[in-house]
Amino acid sequence: MLYENPKIKKIAVLTSGGDAPGMNAAIRAVVRATIYYEKESVAVYRGYDGLIAGDYEPMTARSVSNIIQRGGTILKTARSKEFMTTEGRAKAAANLRAQNIDALVVIGGDGTFRGATRLYEEYGINVVGIPGTIDNDLAGTDYTIGYDTACNTVIKAIDAIRDTASSHNRLFFIEVMGRDSGFIALRSAIAAGVEAVLIPEHLITIPELITKLETGAKNKKTSSLVVVAEGGKSGNAMEIAAKVEEQFSHYDTKVTVLGHVQRGGTPSCADREIASKLGVAAVEAILMGKTGVMVGIINNSLAITPFEDVVITKKVINLETFRINEILAV
Ligand code: ADP
Repeated sequence: MLYENPKIKKIAVLTSGGDAPGMNAAIRAVVRATIYYEKESVAVYRGYDGLIAGDYEPMTARSVSNIIQRGGTILKTARSKEFMTTEGRAKAAANLRAQNIDALVVIGGDGTFRGATRLYEEYGINVVGIPGTIDNDLAGTDYTIGYDTACNTVIKAIDAIRDTASSHNRLFFIEVMGRDSGFIALRSAIAAGVEAVLIPEHLITIPELITKLETGAKNKKTSSLVVVAEGGKSGNAMEIAAKVEEQFSHYDTKVTVLGHVQRGGTPSCADREIASKLGVAAVEAILMGKTGVMVGIINNSLAITPFEDVVITKKVINLETFRINEILAV
């Protein structure tokens, strides 16, 4: 075996915050890697709420059979108010000690890692994070688990909308998730070949958008699709559509808010692959004594980043993609 660490005997795993497709593949990888290294595996249900309530279950390699292809999380997830309190975290740490759990793997987004940092700093609990969020808004990794599947869901929806848009000379505004970042919007926009994309990181004013749409109409476009990231500065898709409609009457205007369909579904090949790799990496980081960190993938290689850096650093979006989309929307 590559890594030995007699001090670690039992490793727990939980999912927390927003669910994302591929979380199950990550759970499977953590459980299996733990057992491969001859350690005991424990699952914690309902995120930090379950950690506080003592909702634990011993896992075997077979406990995670047949889940790699399923969306959501078999361990359930939660947004825990109690874990935000000192008493809540004290209870969680005491439970982990009482169960002789030597290390904890948390799968979630930045909120989850803020919580994990406190458990690590206040109580010296060995915690390692795995990035699981459709938004891809975490520093320390090029891709988060769930992002690729969410983008695939979005482009499938846009393909379907394009059929109806072109049949009726329509202008569609499609709102996608991403909180205050435009990763899902920008990647889906280029992959679906839309006319314009509005993201929080790059302001396009309404007059600029109208000019773009007018140019498209002059260039004989019979319909137009605009992707709007939910956290954009110009407003949500409804508001933008209303402002554009007042001044641009070439097409019949419609709005589609994709909403929660983006969170579910069968995880893509890419999400299952990174979830599997990061699950193993998280267990191996623990065995190497590297905790208080998130495992991620940067430039196709494993990257280990302290939680502190993950939560304070704003991940930069590559605006080159934006420029390419401008060229292709001619
Ligand atoms: P995500 O991990 O997807 O970003 P949330 O932001 O909801 O999801 O965070 C998940 C959970 O992490 C929260 O419900 C809370 O219990 C815990 N958490 C978030 N921020 C903190 C914090 N500053 N201190 C302690 N716990 C936190």
